[in-house]
Amino acid sequence: MAEFALIQRYFSGLSAPGQDVLLGVGDDCALLQPPAGQQLAMTMDTLIASRHFFPDIDPVSLGHKSLAVNLSDLASMGAKPAWALLSLSLPKIDHGWLQGFVRGFQTLAERFGVRLVGGDTCQGELSITMQLTGFVEPGRKMLRSSARPGDLVYVTGTLGDAALALQLLRAGKDPGELRKHLEMPQPRIVEGRMLVEAGVRTCIDLSDGLVADLGHICERSGCAARVHAQRLPLSSRVRSHVQESGDLALVVAGGDDYELCFTLPASTQSLLETLPFESTCIGEIIPGKGVELLQEDGNKLSLPQAWEHFVS
Ligand SMILES: [Mg+2]
Repeated sequence: MAEFALIQRYFSGLSAPGQDVLLGVGDDCALLQPPAGQQLAMTMDTLIASRHFFPDIDPVSLGHKSLAVNLSDLASMGAKPAWALLSLSLPKIDHGWLQGFVRGFQTLAERFGVRLVGGDTCQGELSITMQLTGFVEPGRKMLRSSARPGDLVYVTGTLGDAALALQLLRAGKDPGELRKHLEMPQPRIVEGRMLVEAGVRTCIDLSDGLVADLGHICERSGCAARVHAQRLPLSSRVRSHVQESGDLALVVAGGDDYELCFTLPASTQSLLETLPFESTCIGEIIPGKGVELLQEDGNKLSLPQAWEHFVS
């Protein structure tokens, strides 16, 4: 099947024309009209078979995850998702696989109002590159560079679930319920929008692990962070794993959490009480450099290496 026919067959239904999509998939370019006064937030991610996912992953999960990791970047800025561009490299044309991939993509896209406005396919090793654009109102955005000493550090959800799933899969064990954290992460778009509306101005999404990503906030903001290990939010599976193995690295450097890590001045902490989702205060921003992890007795834990994308 020619490339054009492939794009028409699988992807033309995903870009319904609307106020901001004047022309979607089907011509040389898409024609797009951003809403008046909005700024564009743009991000891109590549997922490569055996490096970022197991090659035999369910295509529905892969379609979902390809979009979810990009949505997570928009969530961390407080952006409203809008348009996607997709470049697919496929070893062969497998219609069942493509239908599954499109279904996984489409279900998540519809949930967050994402329109696929263009793309490209070619033959090669299985890899997916997606570019996503969202909208932010000027002045209403969350950055890595705005943390200040005295801010409190929060995270949404729980940490380490995807990393534990990956560890179990690598050991040939069934991760059960944890698998969905690794293969079907839920991007925190709604939470990101609420945080930015509430006035939060510093945020990052956790893709490489807490230490690495909070480290990016520290670096960009010119300060340090202190994290209290006993405050880290853990699911019961991860908590018992950590208790048995003592392996906290999985939690703070495992990666693939796709939760939000944000900071805000302690004086504005109460604004979080008005928000309809849970977040956990795990520490504070302090003067200095880097991220330190404290045990209950106040001693510093030596920090594990940051996440490296897995190679099978
Ligand atoms: Mg990110």
